[in-house]
Amino acid sequence: MRFLSADIIFPIYTNSIPNGILAVSANGTINDVLLPDDENAPDPSRIERFEGALCPGFINAHCHLELSHMKGVVAEKTGLPKFITEIVTRREENSEMKMESIRLADEEMWRNGIQAVGDICNTADTLETKRNSRVEYHSFVEVFSFDPAKAEAVLKEGIRVADLYRQADLRASIVPHAPYSVSEQLFAGIAAQQSRFSGPISIHNQETESEDEMFVSGTGELVETFKGFGADFTNFNPQKRSALDYALPQLPKNQNVILIHNTCSKQEEFGYVDSVRNDVFWCTCAQANKYIENRIPNLPLWLEKQAKICIGTDSLASNHQLSILEELKLIQSNYLDIKLAELLKMATLTGAKALNMDKEKGSFLKGKLPGVLWLKNVNLNEGLFTETSSVQRLF
Ligand SMILES: [Zn+2]
Repeated sequence: MRFLSADIIFPIYTNSIPNGILAVSANGTINDVLLPDDENAPDPSRIERFEGALCPGFINAHCHLELSHMKGVVAEKTGLPKFITEIVTRREENSEMKMESIRLADEEMWRNGIQAVGDICNTADTLETKRNSRVEYHSFVEVFSFDPAKAEAVLKEGIRVADLYRQADLRASIVPHAPYSVSEQLFAGIAAQQSRFSGPISIHNQETESEDEMFVSGTGELVETFKGFGADFTNFNPQKRSALDYALPQLPKNQNVILIHNTCSKQEEFGYVDSVRNDVFWCTCAQANKYIENRIPNLPLWLEKQAKICIGTDSLASNHQLSILEELKLIQSNYLDIKLAELLKMATLTGAKALNMDKEKGSFLKGKLPGVLWLKNVNLNEGLFTETSSVQRLF
């Protein structure tokens, strides 16, 4: 048993504890969280003392490990339609280099304190790395085609890939890519697979202004991008209020839904979502939004609307690193009123709930195996990260 203490402990399930003591067994299981004057507190000589804060391991609710080899390939701040074109035309690389980048990205996440990841896959490229990783993964096997005639074939391939992950004892579900890339027929096919591939659902949402434009008027840069790839919009009837209004009612029921990005989601979307279902999580990938669209979402609005907020890094194709800490720093540098305790909850427990992993992870509740992180150089008086804030894994 080790006894760890710091200026503040963030157990997450309850208020932060100044000078608290964390009792952790050799394998990392949380045994207890003690107040400094607790009668069960060990002899002071047995306590290891850390300057800064301790918190549970981070949950990365959105990544694309299989795009790791595209680090630095796509130019920044050109907007989503151009980003998609770059990814589609440049994603194939020789596979040895691709596999090595996946392995290194997985190691980077572990080193950066990431305990679990919701990872989008279009292939089984990440399977070997995940099987051997200390990071826990939920693989979101993603399917897309806006052409109704292709729905069956696309779904069949998704099932084949998801089966491979399941056969390797890895968590996997089949999910739609985004409102603008999934036909009604394909949505119906995904929902029909729920009895076999139950698990959380994720969908990219309202990442760019032209996404809503597509569903309201059938025009815009995104539509033009897909026409450039040969997509046929002649039978498309754009009469929805927004992209989310098109997608949400078609998603499988009784599964958590993680909406990814939501950079352009407007105030009215939150009430709309609440009126349709109560198991929706809002995931922000601020670094990637800055990289692609050069804007980040209105997180104070999300908080005001009491959205369940989790954090993702997105892929190395649209981020300089896979670090939840860097995501939190960027969010706070834009919104100073969002303090450490609130950000850490998004980065741990809420993400764990979204991925159905909160029985084991996301807080220092007794019996969990959540990982233990040491946050250094944080301004605890004001609840702020600093430029030199860093994270070191203790368990
Ligand atoms: Zn993504």
